[in-house]
Amino acid sequence: MINITINGKVIEAQENSTILETAKAAGIDIPTLCYLKEVNAIGSCRLCMVEVEGYGYLLAACKTKVREGMVIKTESEKISIYRKEMLRLILSNHNVDCMSCSDNGVCRLQALCNKYEVKDSYYSGSRRSIEKKLPKLEDNPYITYDPSKCIHCQRCISVCNYVAVNGTLQSGRSGTFHIVEAPFGAKWKESGCESCGNCAEACPTGALTLKRRDKFREWEVKKVLTTCPHCATGCQFYLVVKDNRIVNVEAADGPSNHGRLCVKGRSGSYDFISSPDRLTTPLIKNRETGEFEPASWEKAISYAAEHFMEIKKKYGGDSLAGFACSRSANEDIYMVQKMVRTCFGTNNTDNCARVCHSATVAGLAKTLGSGAMTNPIYDITHDVDCILLVGSNPEEAHPVVGMQIRQAVKTGTRLIVVDPRDIGLSRFADIHLKLRPGTNVAFANGMMHVIIEEGLTDEAYISENTEGYEELKALVKEYTPEKVGEICHIDPAMLREAARMYAKAAKAPIIYCLGVTEHSTGTEGVMSLSNLALICGKLGRSGCGVNPLRGQNNVQGACDMGAQPTDYPGYQKVDNDEVREKFEKAWGVSLSPKPGLKATEVFPAAIEGKIKGLYIQGEDPIISDPDTKHIIAALKSLEFFVVQDLFVTETAKYADVILPAVSYAEKEGTFTNTERRVQRIRKAVEPEGDMRLDTDIITDLMNAMGYPQKRLTAAEIMDEIASVTPSFAGISHERLDNGESLQWPCKGKDHPGTDIMHKGHPARGKALLYPAEYKASAELPDEEYPLILMTGRILYQYNAAAMTGRSDGLNEMAGEGYIEINHKDANRLYIGNGERIIIRSRRGAITATARVGRKVSEGETWMPFHFPDSPVNRLTNAALDEFARIPEYKVCAVRIEKIDDWSDVMANRIS
Ligand code: SF4
Ligand code: SF4
Ligand code: SF4
Repeated sequence: MINITINGKVIEAQENSTILETAKAAGIDIPTLCYLKEVNAIGSCRLCMVEVEGYGYLLAACKTKVREGMVIKTESEKISIYRKEMLRLILSNHNVDCMSCSDNGVCRLQALCNKYEVKDSYYSGSRRSIEKKLPKLEDNPYITYDPSKCIHCQRCISVCNYVAVNGTLQSGRSGTFHIVEAPFGAKWKESGCESCGNCAEACPTGALTLKRRDKFREWEVKKVLTTCPHCATGCQFYLVVKDNRIVNVEAADGPSNHGRLCVKGRSGSYDFISSPDRLTTPLIKNRETGEFEPASWEKAISYAAEHFMEIKKKYGGDSLAGFACSRSANEDIYMVQKMVRTCFGTNNTDNCARVCHSATVAGLAKTLGSGAMTNPIYDITHDVDCILLVGSNPEEAHPVVGMQIRQAVKTGTRLIVVDPRDIGLSRFADIHLKLRPGTNVAFANGMMHVIIEEGLTDEAYISENTEGYEELKALVKEYTPEKVGEICHIDPAMLREAARMYAKAAKAPIIYCLGVTEHSTGTEGVMSLSNLALICGKLGRSGCGVNPLRGQNNVQGACDMGAQPTDYPGYQKVDNDEVREKFEKAWGVSLSPKPGLKATEVFPAAIEGKIKGLYIQGEDPIISDPDTKHIIAALKSLEFFVVQDLFVTETAKYADVILPAVSYAEKEGTFTNTERRVQRIRKAVEPEGDMRLDTDIITDLMNAMGYPQKRLTAAEIMDEIASVTPSFAGISHERLDNGESLQWPCKGKDHPGTDIMHKGHPARGKALLYPAEYKASAELPDEEYPLILMTGRILYQYNAAAMTGRSDGLNEMAGEGYIEINHKDANRLYIGNGERIIIRSRRGAITATARVGRKVSEGETWMPFHFPDSPVNRLTNAALDEFARIPEYKVCAVRIEKIDDWSDVMANRIS
């Protein structure tokens, strides 16, 4: 540290930092238009000029490093005259139409002109005449570029290159001038732009802006800090509210997003809230007509409670089940599982982690002692040597994580992609192992074979921190690269190279997602990756670990909150007497010691007549679960069925009662992101119509079923959670609202939370090295169904598209179901790119548009599962994993056909 003086005040400064950074850290504002910390420091606007003693001229604060004893003035008459001239020069090329500009009130140029009393320019810029003639680019649904307002600060270009790391926004030329080549014109769909809007947020003027800014002015709105409702990255943003309507989203500097957002977060997070399709009043199905009829809350609550209690009386509590919503708040989920346990009298509660990451929860709990992501997102994407990315496509499913991985690769991190498709990140990868779907266990065993054979293991870590090494060693000995190459359809030499690259890297996280878990051997896939990290000693330290990217915004929280048939909140086991007694005391009832049914077991049990009544909060299994026909059959078998949701979903259509839920923007609460970080959601708008908070709905139902539950605020519910959950003991709304960022385990009010798990030793004490043999997927291709179908997510939609599907812009970007087919298969079947075709499996048939290319290998196909016009889960297989009962979404056998006769499609209702 050195000492400098700014404006007469002595300040401690970091050596090598700039005057601008030092002044900012000391709370002294130096104006700039082009500077963006760590992103853009081209020094073009010249507004940050300051006086430094000993220099006869002004120096640019963004470019000048501090030196011991420096004496600096940031404001003086000389500086003011200079800045006025600079502003006049900038204005000479700026189309000043502040009155009609959508950035009026938020424009940095306007603010500085006001500050330095510059009203117009006496220079006539030669650029302005040219740029006025350049067309505005406004074909992108969300973003516009007006060259006549561009001041060429290059912030947008730097943000696209270094923050979004997309690289589509570039500097170009028009005649003798540099211009910004913005991808928002007629050919916007052909550009690689992801419409994330991070560039527009960085633009200091109205040149690059979000179209919706036209609808409000800065002084008309309030901003509410909250958490994105889509994926589990947990990006922080502000909802911008005018007249009780959300009109915009602005990124906040959150611990997982650092000021970035993806297109879903920025532009798909609020249209659904004011959608006319929202349910606003309870509905009860008239059993004679089959039609839903509006009902009062009192009627709907008592009707639901009576039916559930009748079923309990007749068949026992285990004939009831209740699922919590992984998109809902922790506080809501806690109340749902409490209702199921205290009122239904069963542990038949679950959440949609069952169909996405239950294999992670089961697998990592078994091997490491905790079933959650080990390291924070920032830690595994910054300053790491190698990333091993397995079965994960973060650019589409966790886009802000994807941006950070792209950034890591750009700054020297090596990348190994293990995925059956050419995902976007495979073009950045040092090695892409394009393995056959369903062969992850063989791949991991092959990696370990090479690592052990070549002496690349961390023997000290293994002997101190693991058990089962000898058994594992004996098993993986059989998995030679040649044998694995045959199973996985990969080059053995590349497997060897990948194993060396991962093992030799000092900091190398494993990052994985549903490509590992959604298999009938999903849990073994997870445990195999944990084995891999353990034998290399890459656990419990920075830049390493085993890192599942959880899917939905609060699926981590749904598991943490005890919406699981085996666990109370905080993974406390229902069959542990001591734990159960604790909950019985806290909740004042006796509780069932019997582990409940998992969600994927509830549906077959309903068909068998064992489950008679079901409560579903916010899930839509008809769209999201495999083998739609068996889900419908299960729902039809129920005697009584209640859905609590924002919309009348496909699943809700089968309900007896539908209760309107409120969205994340209409209530207080918390979400827990994939890195175990508990973050606040805050009420931004009042719900319209006759709405009740979700926690109040559950409370009213509990009281109607005879359990005396007091209505509590979300903060009070979190206090109750903390009182019964050791890993949440220190978490409260108060601490979060005071700016603390807490990752569980957080064991007390003074505990700072846990950023990296398993430090010192694994949570289990000694980690288990579980030897898993490779087993083939449950349904392999044959003569009748010769192709493998995989399913997954895309950037522009989320899950069943109930929320994102209500944003017109996102639908314009991706609104139709499609299937990726290898060109060789397409040629053989005479299928052309863009042709609508039929896809059949043993369970059903649908149509989709063919995308022919090389993304998938010959014999394999891939479909996104978001689109109602191609409901892919009519095809998928409900074969379950032995440990977690997770279904095999990633592999089923299909055949594809040309549509020769549309009557076939219509007659069979294939759509
Ligand atoms: S919207 Fe995102 S991807 Fe597109 S140009 Fe801007 S920063 Fe780049
Ligand atoms: S569009 Fe905005 S951010 Fe980009 S160079 Fe122009 S003024 Fe700067
Ligand atoms: S990356 Fe995920 S959490 Fe972040 S803005 Fe996008 S959808 Fe939201």
